[in-house]
Amino acid sequence: MSDNIASRADGAAASGTVLVLNSGSSSLKYQLVHPDTGNVVVSGIVERIGETDVPDHRAALRLVFDEFAAAGIDLTGLVAVGHRVVHGGRSFHSPTVIDDAVLAEIRRLSSLAPLHNPANVEGIEVARELLPGVKQVAVFDTGFFYDLPAAAATYAIDAEVAEKYALRRYGFHGTSHQYVSRKVAEFLGRPIADVNQIVLHLGNGASASAVRGGRAVDTSMGLTPLEGLVMGTRSGDIDPGLVLHLNRAIGLGVDEIDDLLNRRSGLKGLCGENDFRAVRGMIEAGDEAAQLAYDVYVHRLRRYIGAYMVELGRLDAITFTAGVGENDRGIRADALAGMERYGIVVDPELNTGRAVVPTRISPADAEVAVLVVPTNEELAIARAAAAV
Ligand code: ADP
Repeated sequence: MSDNIASRADGAAASGTVLVLNSGSSSLKYQLVHPDTGNVVVSGIVERIGETDVPDHRAALRLVFDEFAAAGIDLTGLVAVGHRVVHGGRSFHSPTVIDDAVLAEIRRLSSLAPLHNPANVEGIEVARELLPGVKQVAVFDTGFFYDLPAAAATYAIDAEVAEKYALRRYGFHGTSHQYVSRKVAEFLGRPIADVNQIVLHLGNGASASAVRGGRAVDTSMGLTPLEGLVMGTRSGDIDPGLVLHLNRAIGLGVDEIDDLLNRRSGLKGLCGENDFRAVRGMIEAGDEAAQLAYDVYVHRLRRYIGAYMVELGRLDAITFTAGVGENDRGIRADALAGMERYGIVVDPELNTGRAVVPTRISPADAEVAVLVVPTNEELAIARAAAAV
């Protein structure tokens, strides 16, 4: 077995499962999952593609298939391959069966997501080649935000330029926001049409959304996944004038600015660490830069929560999800501190560590339910791929 691959197999029956593929620029995450039960047969990741003995995504997927064979997993009876595709632009809003025309359009959308869509395209090409005859479905990260109200989706720039180049706010992490917002309604035992909620997806990437009656009415990411909250390595919101200044006055080229804002900013830019656990550890050790990084992170988060409370008018639930949101009790307490007058209370007794099932962390009689709901993008993709 190559040391590029890390996998975990829990059973061997692939019949009735969906293979979910998430192709990044240098990694391939995969999961073989039963869409109905959520049972995972095998999951794993191939990393450092292009850097080592795994030259490309084709080799990576072959490695995965070798791994399946070694574990005695037979892909006969596979229902579909579900591909996570980052940018669906204005072309795609729902899970779509991939044919040549769809693939060409996803490739064309690479100009909007140069870091993501090309890898997604490669993953699709290889999977079609290696699994001919199996339904291939694209599930778009932007899909849930496709019909954001115009006021939330529109940048206040020259309308003709925006129209010509499809410049608008698209939003990302849509699969997670949709999955979690549905889970919230289920957990509360209310029809989703009756629930007004804020979802905070806090992982390496981070985004917030406002969801009214199951429909997204605002989200923090925009044309690209750079806008919005402070993230592990991304700045989130900045004055766009800063970009001009970096270029004109400081002489940085566009690639250097891209690298600065996407990979050397956020928590990492402020304190040298992007992993939230490491930042926590530094804060506990009295590190001032880590404390400031955390304070900026919390400040931005609270600003979005406040904005979405106002946009929604009536608020029923606020939910934390993804790596940081599911695990870090401190961020949940700090993000919502001092909001009692709005019916938002976090009970320290309920707000304990990691949540592995949907959990309420607000007192039962609080007006707003504060929840922790583990996200499961792979299962959501598998279900969408099986259903389409
Ligand atoms: P991705 O965006 O890559 O899917 P995840 O949702 O897995 O990311 O979130 C990764 C983040 O979650 C990292 O910053 C990591 O430090 C953080 N995280 C994971 N476990 C914990 C924990 N126990 N406490 C605090 N943060 C955690």
